[in-house]
Amino acid sequence: MDSYLLLASVGLGAPQTNILAVGAHPDDVELGCFGTLLEKKRSGHNVYAVALAPGAYGTLRWDEIEAVWSESRKALRAGGGKGEYFLGKFPIGSLVQDWATVGFVDDLIRTYSIDTVISHHHGEAHQDHIAAQRIATAAARRHVDRLWLWESVIYTHRNVHPFNPQMYVPVSRESFDGKMKVLETYLAAGLLEPLEVEAQRHLARYRGAEMHRDFAEAFEVIWEVHDG
Ligand SMILES: [Zn+2]
Repeated sequence: MDSYLLLASVGLGAPQTNILAVGAHPDDVELGCFGTLLEKKRSGHNVYAVALAPGAYGTLRWDEIEAVWSESRKALRAGGGKGEYFLGKFPIGSLVQDWATVGFVDDLIRTYSIDTVISHHHGEAHQDHIAAQRIATAAARRHVDRLWLWESVIYTHRNVHPFNPQMYVPVSRESFDGKMKVLETYLAAGLLEPLEVEAQRHLARYRGAEMHRDFAEAFEVIWEVHDG
């Protein structure tokens, strides 16, 4: 029988967590778990994100992509508490799990006392996404209490392994709107397709409805430590 874990927003008095979302490219964290990051920040947690392999692709120049990505960074920085969105320095399309990439994420984990890492699902079909998941897992293996994988995005939804929703984070209307606003920015710049953005809207409603909430994002749990 499947078991489900419902994580409601942590209220006053709950331990503050330091969350790092690890994506391959600008837009991956936004698609995968931006509602959760905004919701956790509203609840007093510290939220960080990184795009490991930023860069130009297709006919799009990097400065165009960076301008859109900076709106996501602004959203993570806004309001109270700590929030930041970092860029890696690794080649787009050729991301690999090695000493340099794992060390880069390891440094972020130690610098920001990260206890929760969220990344791509291992069943995705894009080579950079799979690499990012392996990098995040290797970097998280020693000191991180929670490793969650976000639901595969539509862009690479033809998964090798199916996503298994095990844990749900309810997302408020404000955080959902915040996620959709950054996705609409990517859409307006031609970085996402209309169907991808629309699918995210329906997915959040669907995952929310499963848990009798307005909106939610679902995750697969790789490990999670419960003290006490
Ligand atoms: Zn990507």
